[in-house]
Amino acid sequence: RSKHRGDGGYTLFNANIEKKNLRRTSLEDKLRGAVTAGHFLVYYQPQYSLEQKRVTGFEALIRWNDPQEGWISPGEFIPIAESSGLISAIDTWTLRQALGTINTLNRETGKQYTISVNVSALQFREEGFVESILAALNATSFPPELLELEITESTAMQNVSAAIAKIEELSKRGVCFAVDDFGTGYSSLSYLNRLKADTLKIDSSFIQELDTVPEAAAVVTSVIALGKNLGMRIIAEGVETEAQLEFIQKHSCSIIQGYLFGRPMPFEELKEFLKHEA
Ligand code: C2E
Ligand code: MG
Ligand code: MG
Ligand code: MG
Repeated sequence: RSKHRGDGGYTLFNANIEKKNLRRTSLEDKLRGAVTAGHFLVYYQPQYSLEQKRVTGFEALIRWNDPQEGWISPGEFIPIAESSGLISAIDTWTLRQALGTINTLNRETGKQYTISVNVSALQFREEGFVESILAALNATSFPPELLELEITESTAMQNVSAAIAKIEELSKRGVCFAVDDFGTGYSSLSYLNRLKADTLKIDSSFIQELDTVPEAAAVVTSVIALGKNLGMRIIAEGVETEAQLEFIQKHSCSIIQGYLFGRPMPFEELKEFLKHEA
C-alpha cells in the first residue's frame, strides 16, 4: 500500500522502523552486561492490607539505570530481555536480591513481610524452573511461605497442565502464587480455579477506569466476588485516588497496591517509609 502513497510516506515509515530496530539492538547489547555491571536495582512497592490496617508485604520491581541512556522502563526492556533469552538471568538476579533484602528487613524489624516477585513466561516455562526457585530459597535461607510468585494469566494458559504441576510442586513447599494483571489476558475462568493460586491481582487498568468508565465498577466487583468465591486474596493494583480506595474498601477487597499508598522505592527509602507506619 505504501508504494502508492509516494516516496515520502514510504521513507518515513522505513526510517521509523529503522530507528526502533537500532534502539532495540542497542538496548539488547547493553542488557547483556547490565547484571554484572550492577546497573539494575530492585525497587519495593508496599502492599497494604485493608483488613489488618498495615503493610503486609512488597512487590519487587526491577529498575535499570544505564550510564548513557538513563532510566529505562521495564515496560520497554522486559520484552527485549524475553525475546533475547536474557530474562531468566535477570529474573534470577531480582529474585535473589529481593529474598536477601527482605530477609534482612524481617530480621531487623522482627516482622514477617512477604515478597512478591514477577516471573516471566519464558522463565516459568523453562525445564529447571521449580529447581531454580528452590535453589534461591535455599541460598538465602528465605522462608518459602513469605514468597509469592506472580505469573500472568497468559503465562499460565500457554500450557495449563504444566502450569498446574509447577504451581503444585512449589505450593507443596509453601511458596504462594498470584495471578497478575487479571482481566487483561485471555483468561479461562475454569482454569483459574484449577491453577489453585493464592492471590488474584486486579489489573490497574480496571481500577483506574473506576473514575471514568461506568462499567468498570461492575467489572471490579465481579472480579472481587469471583476471587473471594475461589478462596483467593484480592489485590487491587494501581490505586491512585481516594475515590478508588473508597470503592475498593466498600467492596471488601483485601489488599491495595498503588501510588496513593506508596510508590515503588529503593530499599533505603522503604526503611524510612516503614518507620512512619504505626
Ligand atoms: P506488574 O507486575 O503488573 O507491576 C505493577 C506495575 O504497576 C509496576 O510498573 C508499578 O510501578 C506500577 N504501578 C504501581 N502502582 C501504580 C499506580 O498507582 N499507578 C500507576 N500508573 N502505576 C502503578 P513497573 O515497575 O514499570 O513494571 C511494569 C511491568 O514490568 C510489571 O508489571 C511486570 O510485568 C514487569 N516487571 C517489573 N519488574 C520485573 C522483574 O523483575 N521481572 C519480570 N519478569 N518482570 C518485571
Ligand atoms: Mg507484578
Ligand atoms: Mg500487574
Ligand atoms: Mg504486568
